Amino acid sequence: MELDEDEFHAQLRKQHRKDCRTKEWKAYVSEMRAKRGHRCERCGRRGGRLTVHHRYYEDGLRLWEYPDNAVQLVHTGRCHREADRDREEQDRRDRIRKEFGPEALKEERPYGSELGELAQSETPFKRWLIDSTRLPQDWDWNNGMWPLWRLWNEFAEEFRRDTKASYVQGQLELGKP
Ligand SMILES: [Zn+2]
Repeated sequence: MELDEDEFHAQLRKQHRKDCRTKEWKAYVSEMRAKRGHRCERCGRRGGRLTVHHRYYEDGLRLWEYPDNAVQLVHTGRCHREADRDREEQDRRDRIRKEFGPEALKEERPYGSELGELAQSETPFKRWLIDSTRLPQDWDWNNGMWPLWRLWNEFAEEFRRDTKASYVQGQLELGKP
């Protein structure tokens, strides 16, 4: 019988509480601190109280048995809480994708680096939507139905492709004698 989500996580947490008190874990954390140059992979700052964050959990793995790319060195406190929140969000998205398919994710607000990219590209993205006639000239940006993030979910891929192509085109023009 398959365990349900809550039961699975409850068991994992129990195992992790045990793991955290072992010599192996302490040795592993100090080894990772040295290996990653005592730098937090979340905020980029060196020093302070650093610990190991897991990007995902897998049943049957002790906390120090994960591959190197599954863990991140982060500050205890805020940096670690943010990293945990990202993992929860990622898990939630994985469940949505599994249950309802990738299209269902288009109804979810972007988060993390995706949200950062949207914030950074807001002006060119809006211009692109109009110029490429995805939206009419007199589009109301404050309409309740289609906030910008929903348009981003729908069109980001095409926008990236187009802007990358025109960037390459621009570079070619610049390179001309
Ligand atoms: Zn940090």
